[in-house]
Amino acid sequence: MDSEDTMTWCPSGRADAAESVVLGVHATPGQLTYLAAPIPARDALSLVPEDISPTRVLRFASHCVSGCGNREGSHCTLMDRVAALPAQADSASVPRCHLRPNCQWWRQSGVEACHRCPQVVTTVTVDDDLGNLVSNPRTTPEEVAVAVGSAATESGTD
Ligand code: SF4
Repeated sequence: MDSEDTMTWCPSGRADAAESVVLGVHATPGQLTYLAAPIPARDALSLVPEDISPTRVLRFASHCVSGCGNREGSHCTLMDRVAALPAQADSASVPRCHLRPNCQWWRQSGVEACHRCPQVVTTVTVDDDLGNLVSNPRTTPEEVAVAVGSAATESGTD
């Protein structure tokens, strides 16, 4: 169990934890508009229509917990897989986000995390092959890199 002193926050966290806050809004697919200040998740959840999964339209932050399937010791393996994705095209700066002082991904990977953070979707759709690969704790970063390379070759962007 982490103490309050060592507790970090997951930037792709749960909506239903007691401490959950809104990190940002998916204004367009694959992009996140970060909130300047955290809003309690419970306040935002009531605004999401019942037929829409909240994590499809919002990103939540919650405590990085030892029981998470992505965690090995104090390390987040999801961040390792996310780091294998291409950085955002506009990566000259990092997003302005309220979570940075306590963000697990920032502490672990610094700006490399922030350059990829906006494209992360907590709940991936069944037809999102790359998203499902990245979100699977059994996937290695090398496998993500291969999939990204293959996709780039198929689309002619490599
Ligand atoms: S990875 Fe960077 S942009 Fe994303 S929540 Fe953490 S500090 Fe903010």
